[in-house]
Amino acid sequence: MYHVWRVLCLKIVNEFNLIDHITRDFPLFQSNIVKGIGDDCAVWREGDQLRVLTTDSMVEGDHFLKDWFTPEQIGHRFLMSNVSDVASMGATPTFLYISLVLDDATDSEWVARLYAGMRPICQKHHISLMGGNITHGQTLSLTATLLGESPNKVVYRGGASVGDIVMVTGDVGSACVARLLLKNGKQPPDELFERLARPTARVAEGVFLKDFASSMIDISDGVASEARHLAMSSQCGVTINADTIPLHPASIAYEGLLSASLIECALRGGEDYELMFTVSEVNSERLQSEWPFETPLTAIGTMTLTQEYYLIQSGQTIPLPRGFDHLSENINL
Ligand SMILES: [Mg+2]
Repeated sequence: MYHVWRVLCLKIVNEFNLIDHITRDFPLFQSNIVKGIGDDCAVWREGDQLRVLTTDSMVEGDHFLKDWFTPEQIGHRFLMSNVSDVASMGATPTFLYISLVLDDATDSEWVARLYAGMRPICQKHHISLMGGNITHGQTLSLTATLLGESPNKVVYRGGASVGDIVMVTGDVGSACVARLLLKNGKQPPDELFERLARPTARVAEGVFLKDFASSMIDISDGVASEARHLAMSSQCGVTINADTIPLHPASIAYEGLLSASLIECALRGGEDYELMFTVSEVNSERLQSEWPFETPLTAIGTMTLTQEYYLIQSGQTIPLPRGFDHLSENINL
């Protein structure tokens, strides 16, 4: 049944068209809802707190292979992808639900090690595991539902203004470089493999950015996809300068040796779990002088007036590629 549904999806829609289509006739009933579908988290108000809620799934074969990662690494990546969505709102994570579909090849020891991979993240961020569900199925799949909170405000995708600077934390593309190396049967160097197997969500950075950023998103599907999301949600255009996109130094040696360039990896590879945000020129100067973290900040583009999406690369202006679409087969990164 799943396969029939998936083939149907691939024929008629991409991921975001599908979400629009199936959620159209579901009104929001509670008056304390601030944001429903359409951001990294849903948001509602409880007293003087804003609560945020996200969910994300990983499926064996699509999102991970047991041959590539230890169960602990799979648990880490899986939970961190959810923590990153909470971080992108400028919120901190609180309550966690885990639901598993276990196939015949997955035993209880593997599941125990999966949870062992999540435990340090729960301890570090004071996330409480509150429940979940375990069932049996044809394909191993993991789903987390994560709540978070913020005492005063959160940052949405849709708050950018024309002229705002697009910035990213850290560097991007190295998870994709590591993935391409693994696909070619080569073991990536440790520092690149770490980015793929044990990414770090920027929780403290996200909380700090709340007072500076006009819009924010986490980079799960690639720079191009996330920049489009910020621009579209803010009714702006965006121009990204490829020459300024920060790459991991260890990835540079692989330029020309993979099926995608390093910039393509950054634009369309995803799974970096860095933050992309916009900031006004005035706030940008204040942010860079007050930034207390070792995590680098890099300006990579500008929000523009007309709702068009461009990439400047080696002096040429070309359409910004599309990022990773989970229901599309048009890229193979
Ligand atoms: Mg996200």
